[in-house]
Amino acid sequence: MTVCLRVYPDRDPQLVAVDADIPQVSVLDLGVTRGDGVFEVLTVVDGRPQAVGPHLRRLANSAAMMDLPPVDLELIGQAARRVADAEYRAGQAHELLVKVVVTRGIEDAAPPSCTCWVVAFPNPDHSRERREGIDVVTLDRGFPHDIAARAPWLLAGAKTLSYAVNKAALREAARRGADDVLFTSSDGYVLEGPSSSLLARFGTRMWTPATAQGVLRGTTQGSAFEYLGRRGFATGEALLRAEALEQADALWLASSSRLIAPIRTLDGRALSVDHGLTDAMNEALLARTE
Ligand code: PLP
Repeated sequence: MTVCLRVYPDRDPQLVAVDADIPQVSVLDLGVTRGDGVFEVLTVVDGRPQAVGPHLRRLANSAAMMDLPPVDLELIGQAARRVADAEYRAGQAHELLVKVVVTRGIEDAAPPSCTCWVVAFPNPDHSRERREGIDVVTLDRGFPHDIAARAPWLLAGAKTLSYAVNKAALREAARRGADDVLFTSSDGYVLEGPSSSLLARFGTRMWTPATAQGVLRGTTQGSAFEYLGRRGFATGEALLRAEALEQADALWLASSSRLIAPIRTLDGRALSVDHGLTDAMNEALLARTE
């Protein structure tokens, strides 16, 4: 069962429950015809949506970067909680995902109006990747590391609906026998995965690539860093050159759906996997109450 709610952010604020199995989106919607919109995917544990605030803030930031009308965050937050609750009651799945989509709406509509919907569905089982780790290849994203400042119209760092490139990169990884991708900038810095953030441990310091490089602010990475801070790690953003990863003690990709997955090989080179810290981070993430 899938639960879907349509939210009308810039008309009279209202939530409308609809059947996700019945088509809801116009063929003229710019989200469909141009990928012109933004989205978020939240994880839900035992019916509780996680990191709602950071996801909504990132959604608002992505919308602002695209000059979309302001998004009614409170209404979308309410919708996320409602669909999570309904889907959990229906299936009792331990882990769910809630997807929030906001598009620029119908082309040339007057007055302009966004289209928004919020839908819940079960999270695929990621226990193997969390436990055993993943094989990752680096792929060039084709932009220098300072692209966000140089060319903001490329929307680096916005979570837009245009994920065709991210999916193409994942297919390239599969062709190379890998599970996932770590993008690098054209000038040799590590960035992020197509749907994940990098965590790199050097002793008791844990780094993630800086958002100024046009990477998304990861909500999972943020929660993991809060946990690591409580355990005495120094955490922060860094500009990391690709070759610096050879000195790292362990690497992970962090994302809402898969949570923390250790990287066990990078471009075919075996890495040591810190099972204890991986399990501890995932347990802390699954125990979040907000
Ligand atoms: N980077 C990109 C490009 C993403 O698409 C995502 C998530 O979808 C992330 C990083 C990780 O973000 P989060 O931990 O909030 O899922």
